[in-house]
Amino acid sequence: MTFDSFNLHPQILKAISSAGYTEPTGIQSKAISKIMQGFDIRASAQTGTGKTGAFLIPALNRLAAPSSKPGKGPRLLILVPTRELAMQVSVQAEKYSKFLSSIKTVCVVGGVPYTAQLRKLSKPHDILIATPGRLIDFMGRSKIDFSRLEMIVLDEADRMLDMGFVDPVEQIVASTPKDRQTLLFSATLQGSVKSLSERLMNKPMDIVVHSDQAKHENISQKIYFSDDIRHKNRLLEHILKMDGVDRTIIFTATKRHADELVDDLYDKGHRAAVLHGDMKQSQRTRTLTQLKRGDINILVATDVASRGIDVQAVTHVINFDLPRCAEDYVHRIGRTGRAGSKGTALSFASRRDSFLVKKIEAFTGQQIDPSTIEGLEPSAKKRFVPNKFPTNKKRRPFNNSRR
Ligand code: AMP
Repeated sequence: MTFDSFNLHPQILKAISSAGYTEPTGIQSKAISKIMQGFDIRASAQTGTGKTGAFLIPALNRLAAPSSKPGKGPRLLILVPTRELAMQVSVQAEKYSKFLSSIKTVCVVGGVPYTAQLRKLSKPHDILIATPGRLIDFMGRSKIDFSRLEMIVLDEADRMLDMGFVDPVEQIVASTPKDRQTLLFSATLQGSVKSLSERLMNKPMDIVVHSDQAKHENISQKIYFSDDIRHKNRLLEHILKMDGVDRTIIFTATKRHADELVDDLYDKGHRAAVLHGDMKQSQRTRTLTQLKRGDINILVATDVASRGIDVQAVTHVINFDLPRCAEDYVHRIGRTGRAGSKGTALSFASRRDSFLVKKIEAFTGQQIDPSTIEGLEPSAKKRFVPNKFPTNKKRRPFNNSRR
């Protein structure tokens, strides 16, 4: 299949070709024509599958024709859970609309001053990309005009619900015209996402993508069982010196630990920086630019930051601590092996993390091979058998991993 078969606006085809994309990804092949036909779509597609293009391309195709309604408010609203994802979607919107000069995009996210965003909102715009909290804030000040709105995208809806945005999302959607088209993208279409979609969508059509990338088959995954945090630090130091370990993102469970780890790595001579939710947006953007430019090659991050990091050529993702939920694992490791390249995801797990390993394996349908490094094996090897651990009721309390 080629992009030509969708009958897209020539300037959008030109932008796709100038981005170097020759054929649609799996989610794009399935979603673009359905969205162009006007269906509400509920798509299960993980990051790295090209899902942003899957909604932006048909949405822009619609925006290429002038609105039938007067006004200056957005015709397309894209709700995202985090600032990083907002920036990433905004970059992609600019990319696909670069030859459609009339299309204007505004991004409103928390953690940055209001003034510039207010100025942009006061001018005519077509696309509004927003995190729910800041958008509700602006709606409360009557700064948002949804009278022209034609389409809403709820991107990474599962994450928005996990972050407690269910009420703001419902409030926002309820303020938009009833005849809108609603698209929902989520890693999972079960549970709370399903009930939300049933409340907000009109006979949605489901699209599920089982591509190699969604299953992360291009990412080699390994687990290193570890005794304690000192052991994890020794494993990390060893791995960072291995051949081929170049651009690396390390995930920790807490912001404090991310700060401490980056200081430690810096002291050991690594070019490392930290990215987490306590940082100002300008600092977060600067850090990501440093990683993209190669000024640093190690980023220590927390989950909040994981979804919006679209940096090419990340060779390794290292989970210094395993995430508590399997979806976060999928999002973290999806920072490597992007757009079809190969990647490596290494996770450190303490003995009590065995149930998390099982949860992740059940979610991804893939077994993660336990590995060891010579001289750095865990001291109680026999106990680190994930499948046996949960039935061992007599285990001693184990509390030397820091969370
Ligand atoms: P996403 O899943 O939207 O985060 O996209 C993952 C990566 O795939 C991004 O870096 C996109 O620029 C890239 N991408 C999107 N569509 C295509 C395509 N049709 N061919 C190749 N790469 C693509």
